[in-house]
Amino acid sequence: MVDESELAYLRRCVELATEALEAGDEPFGSVLVGADGTVLAEDHNRVAGGDRTRHPEFEPARWSAARLTPEERAAATVHTSGEHCPMCAAAHAWVGL
Ligand SMILES: [Zn+2]
Repeated sequence: MVDESELAYLRRCVELATEALEAGDEPFGSVLVGADGTVLAEDHNRVAGGDRTRHPEFEPARWSAARLTPEERAAATVHTSGEHCPMCAAAHAWVGL
């Protein structure tokens, strides 16, 4: 079941996806939320520059690997506007999100 706070994160993902589209990119956005509900990081798709790995689901993996403990990563949640691709799903598994 999705609660109101989760809906707010999902709406932010759609806003980020819209920003990506308006910037000439593909419409995807993601929000990384800590265990206490704090938004830790967010991003939108950035593949238009030529780097096809710049998915917004991949950035939270890099961000959290550099800044969060394994326990914090395990307790965090990635909200995203679309289902993860295999690259991003693997990245989340590798960093323990
Ligand atoms: Zn991806």
